[in-house]
Amino acid sequence: MGMEFAAWALHKYVMHGFLWCWHQDHHVVTGKTFQKNDRFALFFAIPSFLLILIGHIQNVMWLYGVGFGIMAYGIAYFMVHEVIIHRRLTFLRGRGFYFLALIRAHLDHHKVQTKEGCFNFGMLIVPWRYFVWAFKRRFL
Ligand SMILES: [Zn+2]
Ligand SMILES: [Zn+2]
Repeated sequence: MGMEFAAWALHKYVMHGFLWCWHQDHHVVTGKTFQKNDRFALFFAIPSFLLILIGHIQNVMWLYGVGFGIMAYGIAYFMVHEVIIHRRLTFLRGRGFYFLALIRAHLDHHKVQTKEGCFNFGMLIVPWRYFVWAFKRRFL
């Protein structure tokens, strides 16, 4: 839960703020295999690695747990954002109600290709209206 908030805040205030120059090529498709935007993975991977390492060496279990929590969120984010939504790898598909809402919400984020005017900065927690939309699409 904490990481969803951290990722939302990073996306809204840093990626769509002073580091837009790194995030821009995720909104305006360049066709390249790697994006400058991929650098943000390191933003969370480095503290995760250090917390696990220090937690292990010093035998501090809560540091260890926070480090693995960040890593678990990173794996979930990668699976959902890179694989299920953007299909950069194609080994997994997201089907069902939750993924229908989640994919629509993130694609709406991508409708705006500029630094300002974007919405839906979160990833795993989806605004309620997308569940309503998914419900109507599926069952009505
Ligand atoms: Zn964005
Ligand atoms: Zn995206």
